[in-house]
Amino acid sequence: MQRFAPAPTHQYDVAVIGAGPAGGCAAATLAAAGWRVALIERTALPRHRVCGEFLSPEAQATLRHLGLQDELAALKPRALTAATLTSRRGATLEMALPGVAWGLSRFALDAALAQAAVARGAELLAETTVTRVHHDDQGATLLLRRSDGEQHLRARAVLMAGGRRSTPKLPPAAPTRPREELFVGLKSHVTGLTMPDRVELFLFAGGYVGVNPVETGAANVCLLVSYAQFARAGRTLPAMFAAIAAQNAAFAHRMQEAHLLAETFCTVAAVDTHRPAAPWVEMACLGDTATMIPPLCGDGMAMALRSAELCAPLAHDYLRGACSLSAWRDRYCECWQAEFTGRLRLGRALQSLLNHPPLADALVASGRFVPRLADYVVRMTRGDQQAAPAQPDGNSTQRARIR
Ligand SMILES: Cc1cc2nc3c(=O)[nH]c(=O)nc-3n(C[C@H](O)[C@H](O)[C@H](O)COP(=O)(O)OP(=O)(O)OC[C@H]3O[C@@H](n4cnc5c(N)ncnc54)[C@H](O)[C@@H]3O)c2cc1C
Repeated sequence: MQRFAPAPTHQYDVAVIGAGPAGGCAAATLAAAGWRVALIERTALPRHRVCGEFLSPEAQATLRHLGLQDELAALKPRALTAATLTSRRGATLEMALPGVAWGLSRFALDAALAQAAVARGAELLAETTVTRVHHDDQGATLLLRRSDGEQHLRARAVLMAGGRRSTPKLPPAAPTRPREELFVGLKSHVTGLTMPDRVELFLFAGGYVGVNPVETGAANVCLLVSYAQFARAGRTLPAMFAAIAAQNAAFAHRMQEAHLLAETFCTVAAVDTHRPAAPWVEMACLGDTATMIPPLCGDGMAMALRSAELCAPLAHDYLRGACSLSAWRDRYCECWQAEFTGRLRLGRALQSLLNHPPLADALVASGRFVPRLADYVVRMTRGDQQAAPAQPDGNSTQRARIR
């Protein structure tokens, strides 16, 4: 077996792995508190990413608490105030959102969060992959792979925010569930649609597709589909759109004038919406690394941001010697479970239900006749829009300021 022989060259207080919403937000917060932060991202930024690009209302509470809302509002996201859900049989349920959501591309969002981190003093190491993390008594040594070779980096604390396929045991973990239970995600921006201020969801056999406007004036069309249905459709995005349009007339109507922007196409494979939760595995796991809520809930980014908000003050206290690593771990896991367990359970139940056409129709119908039921379900799959961060002393009523 190859021995890991660290030869540290760069020293940081915190290494944050991954510059998605969770990593960018955590890096900005800890850099603002004066810590020397390395934000390490495998890809170049900006870049497109598979996502519905629906930033739910509760995400803004986190952005506001962390002083990031103005920088993102400057990107001029499209305000979204409602959602519709259309079943295969054409029944549509309309729901008011419990606040204003944003239609904001990941191309703009992730780059802006990384930029906010840099503006607060973090160092962004883009096109750099962390391939190994070796912990010791003083912190950790990270092995980095770049196009020009390998490097080591030392950090006193490490936050893992590498997304749904990354685990602290790098490189990306192989999926643990059978392929039939996993999904493929696809997205494209399209022009030519005149869209109201809402997100529209359409159900089809083996998945669902969301359409909402984003800040560029285009609309984002993003879907999650089972492997079997993806293969049946022909394994390409245009073929998949055609297959959905053949099943759901409302989607066909919505896409009539759509022109796909090929440069925005992306796909992800092996999406597991039922992965067990793991908020701490050798280090704090943020966002999708800890687990993933079904995209249908449109809450993954809000959870990623919120997990950063929960974790950053605890990391701060650890770094300044006010708590031990085990106290940080215990408190973070406790807050994480309290905040997300119920939402995940309901989100997963909802996804399973909507995968069965007769049940989906029954849900849409009952939501239409009992609108308060639909509002209740929408509210229960999301967090508190005013939620305050965890404090290591257990007082969760204070704001997220790190002093
Ligand atoms: C089809 C689909 C639709 C979705 N729609 C929505 C939606 O509309 N609204 C919503 O809120 N959520 C949505 N989600 C969920 C949302 O995309 C995720 O919850 C969110 O991106 C999680 O953020 P994150 O920061 O944890 O991880 P990510 O956004 O995945 O970011 C992780 C980053 O880490 C980098 N990275 C990974 N490994 C390494 C490594 N070893 N070294 C360095 N860098 C690394 C990656 O390149 C990436 O940039 C959707 C998901 C899917 C699959």
